Amino acid sequence: MNFLDKVVLVTGSSRGIGRSIAVKFAKEGANVIVNYKSDHKSAETVTEIISSYGHDCICIQADVSKESSVKSMVEQIIEKYGRIDVLVNNAGIAIDADFNERKIKDWHDTLDTNLVGVYLVSKYVGKYMKEQEYGKIVNITSTNGMDTMYTYSVDYDASKAALINLTKNLAIEFSPYVNVNAVAPGWVDTEMNADLSKEYLREEKAKILLQRFAEPEEVAEVVLFLASDKARYIDGETIRVDGGIKLL
Ligand code: NAD
Repeated sequence: MNFLDKVVLVTGSSRGIGRSIAVKFAKEGANVIVNYKSDHKSAETVTEIISSYGHDCICIQADVSKESSVKSMVEQIIEKYGRIDVLVNNAGIAIDADFNERKIKDWHDTLDTNLVGVYLVSKYVGKYMKEQEYGKIVNITSTNGMDTMYTYSVDYDASKAALINLTKNLAIEFSPYVNVNAVAPGWVDTEMNADLSKEYLREEKAKILLQRFAEPEEVAEVVLFLASDKARYIDGETIRVDGGIKLL
């Protein structure tokens, strides 16, 4: 896959799946914008790694759930590059809490980041993609948005289910020049799951046909496929990357 000189924005790319996606695009020749919310040091590290491949890379602080922050980030990118070819809406949060103990603030924070954030970044970036008559948007949803099985993450699951729907509406809004698709990973080995109990993770692993969690790179590979012209006739779709789940 060739992304030579394409301008690629990956939200929440200072660590985890986002970092892996950003690095992979850079290896394929893209100019990558690393977005982060607060961890400047990690974002700088990713930027340095990417720059070592010989392609342009900058990091921009922006909270995807805040409209002024998103607007300013997109303006900075347009000022520097004049276009954005690929947007990966990866930033996301998960707050685990007992169903009855969950705070309403958790609901708002989760929906604002995982859903409203995707709408905001897509709105500001999509405007330029429409004008340039070219663009690829890939949203990172989750199998939690399809197979609900854990009431400790009701708001997260609802946000990811809604994101599958939003993906279709974004595809309509930005047609015919912009492809908008989503990837729904199952379990991925990242810091997002670091606080979950070992026993619960063991039980979850046993339900996976491939008997292991995904590496972030395995999600990144599908993201790059959807962002490439090889996937040019796929639009409004969500692809599972979950190692196969046993239906018990
Ligand atoms: P992670 O916690 O390691 O990374 C999430 C990144 O998003 C972090 O860098 C964080 O700072 C950033 N972020 C959070 N809120 C933000 C905001 N308001 N503005 C900008 N950046 C923000 O988690 P991850 O596992 O790498 O998750 C990446 C995406 O993949 C998320 O959308 C997550 O829901 C999804 N996902 C993860 C798994 C998994 O098992 N790890 C499974 C399915 C889907």
